[in-house]
Amino acid sequence: MARHFSIVSAISLALLAAGCETPQVRPLALATSAPITLIAPAPAAPPAVARADDRCAPLPALPGALAGRTITVERLSDIALHKGEVVLSFDDGPRPKTTRRVLDALDHAGVNATFLMVGQMAKAYPELVREVASRGHSIGSHTFDHANLRTMSRSAALAEIASGEKAVAGALTGSGHSMAPFFRFPYLADSPALRATLAARGTVVLDVDIDSRDYVKSPPATVLTRTMAALEARKSGIILFHDIHARTAAALPSFLAALSAEGYKVVRLVPAGTDCAAEAS
Ligand SMILES: [Zn+2]
Repeated sequence: MARHFSIVSAISLALLAAGCETPQVRPLALATSAPITLIAPAPAAPPAVARADDRCAPLPALPGALAGRTITVERLSDIALHKGEVVLSFDDGPRPKTTRRVLDALDHAGVNATFLMVGQMAKAYPELVREVASRGHSIGSHTFDHANLRTMSRSAALAEIASGEKAVAGALTGSGHSMAPFFRFPYLADSPALRATLAARGTVVLDVDIDSRDYVKSPPATVLTRTMAALEARKSGIILFHDIHARTAAALPSFLAALSAEGYKVVRLVPAGTDCAAEAS
Protein backbone atom coordinates (compact mmCIF):
# COMPACT_ATOMS: atom_id res chain seq x y z
CA MET A 1 0.00 0.00 0.00
CA ALA A 2 2.81 2.36 0.92
CA ARG A 3 4.39 1.78 -2.44
CA HIS A 4 1.05 2.34 -4.12
CA PHE A 5 0.61 5.73 -2.56
CA SER A 6 4.20 6.68 -3.08
CA ILE A 7 3.68 6.15 -6.81
CA VAL A 8 0.62 8.37 -6.74
CA SER A 9 2.44 10.96 -4.72
CA ALA A 10 5.26 10.89 -7.20
CA ILE A 11 2.83 11.45 -10.05
CA SER A 12 1.13 14.24 -8.15
CA LEU A 13 4.42 15.89 -7.47
CA ALA A 14 5.47 15.45 -11.06
CA LEU A 15 2.25 17.04 -12.25
CA LEU A 16 2.63 19.83 -9.76
CA ALA A 17 6.22 20.39 -10.77
CA ALA A 18 5.76 20.01 -14.47
CA GLY A 19 2.55 21.95 -14.23
CA CYS A 20 0.99 20.10 -17.10
CA GLU A 21 2.40 22.84 -19.21
CA THR A 22 1.43 22.73 -22.82
CA PRO A 23 4.07 22.86 -25.53
CA GLN A 24 2.21 25.68 -27.20
CA VAL A 25 1.43 28.10 -24.45
CA ARG A 26 -0.07 31.19 -25.93
CA PRO A 27 0.70 34.55 -24.43
CA LEU A 28 -2.20 35.92 -22.52
CA ALA A 29 -3.04 39.56 -22.28
CA LEU A 30 -2.72 41.13 -18.89
CA ALA A 31 -5.87 42.28 -17.21
CA THR A 32 -6.75 45.82 -18.08
CA SER A 33 -9.86 46.13 -15.97
CA ALA A 34 -9.99 46.93 -12.28
CA PRO A 35 -8.29 44.40 -10.04
CA ILE A 36 -10.56 41.64 -8.80
CA THR A 37 -10.49 40.90 -5.11
CA LEU A 38 -10.48 37.34 -3.89
CA ILE A 39 -13.55 36.53 -1.88
CA ALA A 40 -13.86 34.15 1.02
CA PRO A 41 -14.10 30.46 0.14
CA ALA A 42 -17.55 29.01 -0.22
CA PRO A 43 -19.04 27.44 2.88
CA ALA A 44 -18.91 23.69 3.06
CA ALA A 45 -21.39 22.02 0.76
CA PRO A 46 -23.90 19.48 2.01
CA PRO A 47 -22.61 15.91 2.16
CA ALA A 48 -22.38 14.30 -1.24
CA VAL A 49 -24.67 11.48 -0.17
CA ALA A 50 -27.55 13.95 0.03
CA ARG A 51 -27.34 14.38 -3.71
CA ALA A 52 -26.36 10.87 -4.71
CA ASP A 53 -29.33 10.36 -6.99
CA ASP A 54 -29.72 13.73 -8.61
CA ARG A 55 -27.06 13.55 -11.30
CA CYS A 56 -29.58 14.76 -13.84
CA ALA A 57 -31.31 17.31 -11.66
CA PRO A 58 -30.35 20.94 -12.07
CA LEU A 59 -28.30 22.22 -9.20
CA PRO A 60 -29.95 24.84 -7.01
CA ALA A 61 -29.57 28.18 -8.73
CA LEU A 62 -28.34 31.11 -6.72
CA PRO A 63 -29.08 34.75 -7.53
CA GLY A 64 -27.09 35.57 -10.62
CA ALA A 65 -28.06 32.30 -12.28
CA LEU A 66 -24.58 31.40 -13.38
CA ALA A 67 -25.75 28.01 -14.65
CA GLY A 68 -26.45 28.05 -18.36
CA ARG A 69 -27.76 25.49 -20.78
CA THR A 70 -26.86 21.82 -21.01
CA ILE A 71 -25.31 20.56 -24.24
CA THR A 72 -25.69 16.93 -25.19
CA VAL A 73 -22.39 15.94 -26.73
CA GLU A 74 -22.08 13.17 -29.27
CA ARG A 75 -19.28 14.68 -31.31
CA LEU A 76 -16.92 17.60 -31.01
CA SER A 77 -18.98 19.85 -33.25
CA ASP A 78 -21.85 19.67 -30.75
CA ILE A 79 -19.88 21.95 -28.44
CA ALA A 80 -20.84 25.21 -30.12
CA LEU A 81 -20.68 27.93 -27.53
CA HIS A 82 -22.34 31.28 -27.88
CA LYS A 83 -20.83 34.54 -26.80
CA GLY A 84 -20.87 34.69 -23.03
CA GLU A 85 -20.86 30.92 -22.55
CA VAL A 86 -18.06 28.96 -20.92
CA VAL A 87 -17.36 25.33 -20.12
CA LEU A 88 -15.35 24.58 -16.99
CA SER A 89 -12.94 21.66 -17.20
CA PHE A 90 -10.59 20.27 -14.58
CA ASP A 91 -7.71 17.97 -15.47
CA ASP A 92 -5.26 15.65 -13.71
CA GLY A 93 -7.25 14.72 -10.58
CA PRO A 94 -8.85 13.64 -8.51
CA ARG A 95 -6.82 14.70 -5.49
CA PRO A 96 -8.50 14.65 -2.07
CA LYS A 97 -7.21 17.91 -0.61
CA THR A 98 -8.09 20.02 -3.60
CA THR A 99 -10.80 18.31 -5.63
CA ARG A 100 -13.35 18.52 -2.81
CA ARG A 101 -12.71 22.24 -2.45
CA VAL A 102 -13.33 22.61 -6.17
CA LEU A 103 -16.54 20.59 -5.86
CA ASP A 104 -17.72 22.77 -2.97
CA ALA A 105 -17.12 25.95 -4.98
CA LEU A 106 -19.01 24.54 -7.97
CA ASP A 107 -21.90 23.48 -5.73
CA HIS A 108 -22.02 26.89 -4.11
CA ALA A 109 -22.31 28.55 -7.52
CA GLY A 110 -24.78 25.94 -8.78
CA VAL A 111 -22.78 24.95 -11.84
CA ASN A 112 -21.44 21.74 -13.37
CA ALA A 113 -18.05 21.00 -14.84
CA THR A 114 -16.23 18.26 -16.69
CA PHE A 115 -13.35 16.45 -15.00
CA LEU A 116 -10.71 14.75 -17.16
CA MET A 117 -9.11 12.32 -14.77
CA VAL A 118 -5.75 10.59 -14.84
CA GLY A 119 -6.23 6.83 -14.57
CA GLN A 120 -3.71 6.32 -11.83
CA MET A 121 -5.27 9.03 -9.70
CA ALA A 122 -8.73 7.52 -10.23
CA LYS A 123 -7.36 4.14 -9.23
CA ALA A 124 -5.90 5.60 -6.03
CA TYR A 125 -9.03 7.57 -5.07
CA PRO A 126 -12.06 5.73 -6.47
CA GLU A 127 -14.37 7.08 -3.79
CA LEU A 128 -13.51 10.59 -4.90
CA VAL A 129 -14.23 9.71 -8.52
CA ARG A 130 -17.66 8.52 -7.45
CA GLU A 131 -18.21 11.67 -5.41
CA VAL A 132 -17.46 13.87 -8.41
CA ALA A 133 -20.05 11.92 -10.41
CA SER A 134 -22.64 11.92 -7.63
CA ARG A 135 -22.30 15.69 -7.34
CA GLY A 136 -23.47 16.01 -10.93
CA HIS A 137 -20.33 16.44 -12.99
CA SER A 138 -19.24 14.70 -16.16
CA ILE A 139 -16.08 12.61 -15.98
CA GLY A 140 -13.80 11.79 -18.88
CA SER A 141 -10.24 10.49 -19.05
CA HIS A 142 -6.76 11.88 -19.53
CA THR A 143 -4.54 8.77 -20.06
CA PHE A 144 -3.33 6.45 -17.30
CA ASP A 145 -0.25 8.32 -16.11
CA HIS A 146 -0.29 11.60 -17.99
CA ALA A 147 1.96 10.49 -20.79
CA ASN A 148 2.89 12.72 -23.69
CA LEU A 149 1.28 10.71 -26.47
CA ARG A 150 3.20 12.52 -29.19
CA THR A 151 6.37 10.84 -28.01
CA MET A 152 4.92 7.34 -28.21
CA SER A 153 4.15 4.87 -30.94
CA ARG A 154 0.56 4.75 -32.11
CA SER A 155 -0.08 1.41 -30.43
CA ALA A 156 1.48 2.54 -27.16
CA ALA A 157 -0.51 5.76 -27.22
CA LEU A 158 -3.77 3.91 -27.77
CA ALA A 159 -2.89 1.51 -24.96
CA GLU A 160 -2.24 4.49 -22.67
CA ILE A 161 -5.60 5.98 -23.53
CA ALA A 162 -7.41 2.66 -23.06
CA SER A 163 -5.68 2.04 -19.74
CA GLY A 164 -6.73 5.44 -18.46
CA GLU A 165 -10.30 4.90 -19.56
CA LYS A 166 -10.39 1.50 -17.88
CA ALA A 167 -9.16 2.91 -14.57
CA VAL A 168 -11.60 5.83 -14.54
CA ALA A 169 -14.54 3.71 -15.65
CA GLY A 170 -13.55 1.05 -13.13
CA ALA A 171 -13.72 3.54 -10.28
CA LEU A 172 -17.34 4.25 -11.23
CA THR A 173 -18.36 0.60 -11.46
CA GLY A 174 -21.39 -0.08 -9.31
CA SER A 175 -21.94 3.60 -8.55
CA GLY A 176 -24.84 4.07 -10.94
CA HIS A 177 -22.75 6.56 -12.91
CA SER A 178 -20.62 5.96 -15.95
CA MET A 179 -17.66 7.65 -17.57
CA ALA A 180 -18.37 10.00 -20.43
CA PRO A 181 -16.52 9.26 -23.69
CA PHE A 182 -14.63 12.52 -23.27
CA PHE A 183 -10.85 12.67 -23.52
CA ARG A 184 -8.20 15.33 -23.29
CA PHE A 185 -4.62 14.92 -24.48
CA PRO A 186 -2.04 15.52 -21.73
CA TYR A 187 -0.07 18.68 -22.52
CA LEU A 188 -2.65 19.11 -25.32
CA ALA A 189 -0.14 17.04 -27.30
CA ASP A 190 -2.48 15.56 -29.87
CA SER A 191 -1.93 14.24 -33.38
CA PRO A 192 -4.26 14.13 -36.37
CA ALA A 193 -4.02 10.34 -36.53
CA LEU A 194 -4.91 9.82 -32.88
CA ARG A 195 -7.72 12.35 -33.09
CA ALA A 196 -9.16 10.53 -36.09
CA THR A 197 -8.96 7.18 -34.32
CA LEU A 198 -10.68 8.55 -31.23
CA ALA A 199 -13.40 10.22 -33.27
CA ALA A 200 -14.03 6.99 -35.16
CA ARG A 201 -14.69 5.15 -31.92
CA GLY A 202 -16.99 7.82 -30.57
CA THR A 203 -14.60 9.53 -28.19
CA VAL A 204 -14.91 13.30 -28.02
CA VAL A 205 -11.61 15.12 -27.63
CA LEU A 206 -12.18 18.16 -25.45
CA ASP A 207 -9.98 20.96 -26.66
CA VAL A 208 -9.01 24.04 -24.71
CA ASP A 209 -9.88 27.60 -25.66
CA ILE A 210 -8.67 29.34 -22.53
CA ASP A 211 -5.73 28.07 -20.51
CA SER A 212 -5.85 29.34 -16.94
CA ARG A 213 -2.16 28.39 -16.60
CA ASP A 214 -2.95 27.46 -13.02
CA TYR A 215 0.04 25.10 -13.14
CA VAL A 216 2.35 28.12 -12.99
CA LYS A 217 3.36 28.93 -9.45
CA SER A 218 1.51 32.15 -8.72
CA PRO A 219 -0.99 33.56 -6.22
CA PRO A 220 -4.65 32.56 -6.67
CA ALA A 221 -5.49 36.16 -7.53
CA THR A 222 -3.16 35.93 -10.52
CA VAL A 223 -4.93 32.82 -11.77
CA LEU A 224 -8.18 34.72 -11.48
CA THR A 225 -7.11 37.89 -13.27
CA ARG A 226 -5.19 36.00 -15.98
CA THR A 227 -8.13 33.74 -16.76
CA MET A 228 -10.67 36.56 -16.75
CA ALA A 229 -8.45 38.61 -19.04
CA ALA A 230 -8.19 35.73 -21.50
CA LEU A 231 -11.93 35.20 -21.35
CA GLU A 232 -12.66 38.88 -21.89
CA ALA A 233 -10.54 38.74 -25.04
CA ARG A 234 -12.33 35.68 -26.37
CA LYS A 235 -15.82 36.10 -24.87
CA SER A 236 -16.53 32.35 -24.65
CA GLY A 237 -14.81 28.99 -24.61
CA ILE A 238 -13.69 25.86 -22.81
CA ILE A 239 -11.55 26.82 -19.84
CA LEU A 240 -8.76 24.59 -18.60
CA PHE A 241 -8.10 24.28 -14.88
CA HIS A 242 -6.42 21.58 -12.78
CA ASP A 243 -8.16 20.38 -9.63
CA ILE A 244 -4.86 19.12 -8.19
CA HIS A 245 -3.67 22.62 -7.36
CA ALA A 246 -4.48 24.46 -4.12
CA ARG A 247 -4.23 27.80 -5.91
CA THR A 248 -6.97 26.71 -8.29
CA ALA A 249 -9.27 25.67 -5.46
CA ALA A 250 -8.53 28.99 -3.74
CA ALA A 251 -9.20 31.06 -6.86
CA LEU A 252 -12.35 29.28 -7.97
CA PRO A 253 -14.97 30.94 -5.70
CA SER A 254 -13.80 34.37 -6.80
CA PHE A 255 -13.54 33.30 -10.41
CA LEU A 256 -17.12 32.02 -10.38
CA ALA A 257 -18.26 35.25 -8.74
CA ALA A 258 -16.47 37.23 -11.43
CA LEU A 259 -18.13 35.15 -14.16
CA SER A 260 -21.50 35.87 -12.63
CA ALA A 261 -20.77 39.58 -12.26
CA GLU A 262 -19.77 39.78 -15.92
CA GLY A 263 -22.91 37.97 -17.05
CA TYR A 264 -21.31 34.74 -18.25
CA LYS A 265 -23.11 31.41 -18.23
CA VAL A 266 -21.52 28.08 -17.37
CA VAL A 267 -22.59 25.44 -19.86
CA ARG A 268 -22.88 21.83 -18.78
CA LEU A 269 -21.68 19.07 -21.09
CA VAL A 270 -23.34 15.67 -20.86
CA PRO A 271 -22.62 12.68 -23.08
CA ALA A 272 -25.25 11.55 -25.54
CA GLY A 273 -27.13 8.44 -24.59
CA THR A 274 -27.41 9.11 -20.86
CA ASP A 275 -30.49 9.88 -18.83
CA CYS A 276 -29.21 13.41 -18.38
CA ALA A 277 -28.82 13.79 -22.11
CA ALA A 278 -32.40 12.67 -22.65
CA GLU A 279 -33.58 15.30 -20.20
CA ALA A 280 -31.41 17.97 -21.76
CA SER A 281 -32.59 17.44 -25.32
ZN1 LIG B 1 -3.04 17.20 -17.69
